[in-house]
Amino acid sequence: MYPNLLKPLDLGFTQLKNRVLMGSMHTGLEEDKQGLDKLAAFYAERAKGGVGLIVTGGFSPNLRGRLHPFSAEFSKPKHAQAHKVVTEAVHQYGGKIALQLLHAGRYAMHPFAQSASSIKAPIARFSPSEMSERQIKKTIQAFANSASLAQLAGYDGVEVMGSEGYLINQFICQRTNTRYDDWGGSYQNRIRFALEIVKAIRQEVGERFIIIFRLSMLDLVEQGSTFDEVIELAQALEKAGVSLINTGIGWHEARIPTIATQVPRGAFAWVTEKVRPHVSVPIITCNRINMPEEAEKILSSGQADMVSMARPFLADPHFVVKAEKQQSRLINTCIGCNQACLDNVFKGKAASCLVNPYACRETELIPLSTHTAKNIAVVGAGPAGLACATTLASRGHQVDLFERNDRIGGQFRLAMQIPGKEEFRETIRYFANQIDETGVKLHLETEANFDLLKEYDEVIMASGVEPRKVEINGSQQSDKVIDYQTLIRDKTYLGDRVAIVGAGGIGIDVATMITEPDNHQLDDWLHEWGIDKEMAHPGGLYPYPDSLSDKEVWVLQRRKGRVGKGPGKTTGWIHKRTLEKRGVNLLGGVEYQGITADGLKINYQGETKTINADSIVICAGQVSVRPFEDKWAQLGDKLHVIGGADHAGELDAVRAIRQGVELGLKL
Ligand code: NAP
Ligand code: SF4
Repeated sequence: MYPNLLKPLDLGFTQLKNRVLMGSMHTGLEEDKQGLDKLAAFYAERAKGGVGLIVTGGFSPNLRGRLHPFSAEFSKPKHAQAHKVVTEAVHQYGGKIALQLLHAGRYAMHPFAQSASSIKAPIARFSPSEMSERQIKKTIQAFANSASLAQLAGYDGVEVMGSEGYLINQFICQRTNTRYDDWGGSYQNRIRFALEIVKAIRQEVGERFIIIFRLSMLDLVEQGSTFDEVIELAQALEKAGVSLINTGIGWHEARIPTIATQVPRGAFAWVTEKVRPHVSVPIITCNRINMPEEAEKILSSGQADMVSMARPFLADPHFVVKAEKQQSRLINTCIGCNQACLDNVFKGKAASCLVNPYACRETELIPLSTHTAKNIAVVGAGPAGLACATTLASRGHQVDLFERNDRIGGQFRLAMQIPGKEEFRETIRYFANQIDETGVKLHLETEANFDLLKEYDEVIMASGVEPRKVEINGSQQSDKVIDYQTLIRDKTYLGDRVAIVGAGGIGIDVATMITEPDNHQLDDWLHEWGIDKEMAHPGGLYPYPDSLSDKEVWVLQRRKGRVGKGPGKTTGWIHKRTLEKRGVNLLGGVEYQGITADGLKINYQGETKTINADSIVICAGQVSVRPFEDKWAQLGDKLHVIGGADHAGELDAVRAIRQGVELGLKL
């Protein structure tokens, strides 16, 4: 079914068992006290799951290359010794693993940051110092030394991080390299650093060791590389001895989304495809590939030789084995939300996964079969209830899952209807199949009442939330007012002028939905973000005017300050930028005065004005749904409340699914 994806890849001195690379991902365990043991368990699970080649998170070859002051380094024999637990764990399951070497350069979050030139990154706190020739040579040697130690540790190869705007990339591009010596000026000089690193590594490790180079093929920043330059570097890297070239898309400071859920699936495979005919080493593509079908399509159409997926292996360690068994319907799909992986790492916490709370907690959350099967009722088939019911049933309990609607999914069913959030559908598909696989008895269109529930050994209340009703003068009488749930569910016509009350995640989603252009395809998306598909401009960017919507939309909140970023740490700016590009009005610090025949009357900055609106959508958060709460006390210890029913404020799916799984493992 996936002949190209599952085909081995012969590198001459070694064979990869399939075309799947687990891409590098910083998990936060790299710096944890017991981190290497936890990483060993994490990677071992993925090796067991059949992935062809794993690449670790980035390790710095020296002190100054660390991203943060306490980031992990790999430069001494003691590091090689300590990492053996990781390589042995992976090899035990027939897997292969490469260590990523990453020097942060000017992205380093400490005062010892170094770069090609002393130009501060827009996202960094410290200005880097310009590296002297001696420091450059020492750094090249540091890369070679780390690679040699990686070999000693039992790694099958290294990946040299040459993209995403890190040090090597900073040497390559004019944007960050204004040197006049042998390491700057002409393109040949600017790529010298990258090539010398690869040559030094190859000399150190010999011929029978994998070297992957992550090449920035589309910088997505001004003064980035041109297409001809990318090709020149790719060919020179091949001569210098790389075994594989991996695709890098976008610097971290680029203001274009590259991996978030809004990015269409496989949105950048065309970049790899353009480079592929110019080199003979195998070439890897990546970004927003999250199902075997997508990967197979890319490989069978000749866009790449191998496919890299990173977050999909947080979501499901057994992705490849399921593809081999033709069970892609059982894959727990990464929905690209970033909420428990990147957002966590940016907050200084270990990564996990919204749809798979076991990720990076393999030594902590261990599903064991139960010795005493109980009869358990779960009320509500939203994310929390689904996670809990299927976990309980997988451990051998008898589970009845009651849902008052005619289908499962809860809030995810709304989310999946928002443009750019269609991936939520995959989680519902996953749980629907898990219900069958684990033997949960699902009762749709069934209100569970107290008399029914009191007969069970345990009762899980996961009854979710409903939209908060707000009283604004005149709202009762006005037919302009609609709540977000009804709007999304019924696709109500709103007219051309819409005011949205509430600027949380859902207010932003609703504004996105209303202003979404019809039939938005991949090329439209690339166009909207100013990505030059011809790659005729440096960095793959061309200036493009903002794409205003023909709707007049206002998103409002009472709180003063920033409006429109939503809750996501790493995705908030994308929402805000999207709305700004579409000309949506974002207003904070408003006071609602009333709803009239003309629209919504507000006080803003001391002035009263009316927003002429055909419709007013209420997106003012949620309240818990807690049926027959007055009788809950009678259920005693056997009642457990999770998800939105437990706490509606700052309701979030990460917490809901995690609570469901943790409770499911405990009972
Ligand atoms: P929310 O984030 O709590 O936002 C509610 C909004 O309603 C706020 O802007 C608040 O602003 C306003 N509001 C609250 N009470 C009000 C009242 N009585 N009258 C008028 N306005 C009122 O809730 P949400 O937007 O429904 O989102 C719910 C949760 O879903 C979020 O916490 C988030 O975790 C999750 N979510 C996440 C995403 C994502 O992309 N990651 C997307 C959607 C939802 P003022 O009080 O300042 O007016
Ligand atoms: Fe994917 Fe979201 Fe899980 Fe991250 S948290 S791996 S983006 S599903």
